[in-house]
Amino acid sequence: MEQAIRNTLKDYNLRSTSCREDILGTFLNKEVALSHGDIEDSLGERFDRVTIYRTLKTFLEKGLIHKVLDDEGIRYALCKDNCSEQDHHHDHIHFKCVECGQTNCLANVHIPSVQLPDGYQASEVNLLIQGRCPACT
Ligand SMILES: [Zn+2]
Ligand SMILES: [Zn+2]
Ligand SMILES: [Zn+2]
Repeated sequence: MEQAIRNTLKDYNLRSTSCREDILGTFLNKEVALSHGDIEDSLGERFDRVTIYRTLKTFLEKGLIHKVLDDEGIRYALCKDNCSEQDHHHDHIHFKCVECGQTNCLANVHIPSVQLPDGYQASEVNLLIQGRCPACT
C-alpha cells in the first residue's frame, strides 16, 4: 500500500511527504468523497489545517482528486479516469445518500449536455443526486 502510494505521487510528479502520503492513503481507504473535516478527523492531530488545505489544493491542481459539491459544501474524491494537470475534466454524476450521508462518484453515469444561452460559457458542471444508496435501500 505504502509503495503504491509513493508510486502514485511519483506518477503525478509530486514529491513524497508524510502529509501527502497520508491524505492519499485516506482517499484510497475510504473510497467515498471526503470533506476537509473528514480528512482532519481521520488524520488526527498530525497535520495542521493549512498543511491539509495546501495538500488538497496541490492534489486538485495535479489531477489526483476532483471537487464534489454537495449540500454541505465541498468534498473531494479520487479521479479514476487518469486525469492529469492538463486534462482534468469530469462529467459524471455524484450521488449523496440521505440515509448514511456518504457521497459517491457514479463514474459511468454522465451528466446530460445542457444548452446554454448565447454568451454563457461553462467551465465546470456539477450534478448531485440525493437519495438512497444500495446499502441503505
Ligand atoms: Zn480529475
Ligand atoms: Zn447509504
Ligand atoms: Zn466524482
